[in-house]
Amino acid sequence: MNIVFLGPPGSGKGTQAKRIAANFGLTHISTGDVFREAIGKKTELGVEIKAYVDGGKLVPDDLVSRVVFEHLKKLGTTRAFLLDGYPRTVDQAHALDAFGQRERMSWDAVVFFDIASEELVKRLTARRQCPKCNEVFNLVTRAPKKEGICDKCGSSLMQRPDDTEEVIRKRLDVYEKQTAPVLDFYKSRAGFVRVNAKQDIDVVYSEMKDALSALSAR
Ligand code: AMP
Repeated sequence: MNIVFLGPPGSGKGTQAKRIAANFGLTHISTGDVFREAIGKKTELGVEIKAYVDGGKLVPDDLVSRVVFEHLKKLGTTRAFLLDGYPRTVDQAHALDAFGQRERMSWDAVVFFDIASEELVKRLTARRQCPKCNEVFNLVTRAPKKEGICDKCGSSLMQRPDDTEEVIRKRLDVYEKQTAPVLDFYKSRAGFVRVNAKQDIDVVYSEMKDALSALSAR
């Protein structure tokens, strides 16, 4: 089963993606994680995209699509994927459809994380991430057991440079203008699932898992 996650920054896509990918045996491809790793390692890609990511702007469509399709091609058709953070513009959604037709690799479900934007600023300023294993915590809803330390691998947690209030507001604005229209692209298609992302993490997970299991059984 191939899945696409769609939703604003801070809606819980990354956290749920890890669990859903583990449950359904999918390869989790997070464009944000791929970009942060490239920036951290100062690769050619990282140097090219750093200013966009740090400033809360979208990386140009062609470049993102190229990176995503390279990952998908490496998987081949034997392995299923979960795309987290792509597509984020209507052009990217068209590009994904065209790639799917060329490579015979289509998505089966698009999950939309539905949540009001006032909730997101609160969540994002409280977000902390492990730079080593990418595990995500939240000081309000999912605090680490030991302050400032990753429960999973013991590294020191960090605040993402784009999780400051100023950049968060910019990212939410970018979401409204460029990503929200992607919803119209998918919402009338078979396989579209809407979840109320304001609920508790475990409730969101179980509702989503049930909806996806029902789809995969069809
Ligand atoms: P995320 O971790 O998903 O919030 O992504 C962090 C940043 O990476 C975004 O603010 C963008 O700068 C960039 N990015 C991630 N995915 C995309 C995408 N599909 N299109 C353009 N830029 C992206």
